[in-house]
Amino acid sequence: MYSEIIKNLKTDVRLTEALQACMNCGICTAVCPAAEFYEYDPRSIAVSVQSENREKIIDLLESDTIWYCGQCMSCKTRCPRNNCSGLIISVLRKLSQETGAFTKSRMGRQQYLILKTIGNNILSRGYCIHPTTVVPETHPEQGPVWKWIYENMHDVYAVVGANLDCDGPGTMRKINSIDLNELNNIFIVSGGMKFFDTINHFSKLKAIEMGMVDEYGEADMEKYTQYLLQE
Ligand code: SF4
Ligand code: SF4
Repeated sequence: MYSEIIKNLKTDVRLTEALQACMNCGICTAVCPAAEFYEYDPRSIAVSVQSENREKIIDLLESDTIWYCGQCMSCKTRCPRNNCSGLIISVLRKLSQETGAFTKSRMGRQQYLILKTIGNNILSRGYCIHPTTVVPETHPEQGPVWKWIYENMHDVYAVVGANLDCDGPGTMRKINSIDLNELNNIFIVSGGMKFFDTINHFSKLKAIEMGMVDEYGEADMEKYTQYLLQE
């Protein structure tokens, strides 16, 4: 699972830009908004990657830690060595997804929900977030007014000048099938679809490992989804 981990880490082109020579000064942690709220230290992540500390890198791939980063890139603007901890973390996240390590942490497992929502929205509708998929019962963070907006969606969006799910121009317009096909083809040739398959594959293995199976012994992904929503 991790046999090529250091090689794969070093061959990611983003690491060349993200890590020149870390001097362990801690400025990235000092400016990092995520470090204010979590047990999270981008400095130590940069140092672990720079020193190619295999054990620590594997720990990171399997941990919640790499999912705390908000990808704001404030660290990039302040690093005296022009490193970018946020980009280093992007590389670690990709490795975590490719190896299945993401299923070992609570926040990592949420990748499956993100794939089911944002990933599927992009492929089926052409939008990362589409209001019809933000169901009030599973998105309490939207607040009490959202339920009313959700139930009166077409009227509300028309009032603000959107063209929700309709043909023609305008915000939230329906994306036609030719453009959607092109978008799907981009995901196929760029490896995005394979990446989605990988996340699906490891999530199914995790569901089976946790005993969430149907009568045929296949992964019960509906049950797994409900578990992730509560986790
Ligand atoms: S600010 Fe730059 S040099 Fe300092 S610890 Fe962070 S990555 Fe290393
Ligand atoms: S990109 Fe990530 S590590 Fe860098 S400052 Fe933002 S949250 Fe912190």
